[in-house]
Amino acid sequence: MAYDPNNIFARILRGEIPCRKVYEDEHVLAFHDINPQAPTHILVIPKGAYVSLDDFSERASDRELSAFLRALGRIAREQGAARTGYRVLANHGRDARQEVPHFHVHIFAGRDLGRMIGKAPSG
Ligand code: 5GP
Repeated sequence: MAYDPNNIFARILRGEIPCRKVYEDEHVLAFHDINPQAPTHILVIPKGAYVSLDDFSERASDRELSAFLRALGRIAREQGAARTGYRVLANHGRDARQEVPHFHVHIFAGRDLGRMIGKAPSG
């Protein structure tokens, strides 16, 4: 899938749409999800134009890859999530119901998150 430069996270990166920022460096931006599914629900995104984890893992430079993973762990620690536990999740494509076509990892924390994933809904 070609990258859509008008997706909502690309617009956040360009400053066209506001976000509640929690972290930023040369390669990474992180902000609160607009519709949180847990007391802490943060989205971590690369600044580069990547559609999903599939695209990012294939095309990103080693610097971007390491910066992203370092930032992910650091954000979880800074948010206090590493103390009590957290879950990370990245949706790619149709079956995962990825909504925004700019690679992002969700960090969920702040409550018992239950086990893994639920059963597939019928709808
Ligand atoms: P996906 O299903 O693609 O993995 O998740 C997309 C996430 O982006 C959803 O959790 C949704 O709530 C969040 N989201 C969609 N639009 C916006 C927005 O404009 N601002 C923020 N902060 N989050 C958004």
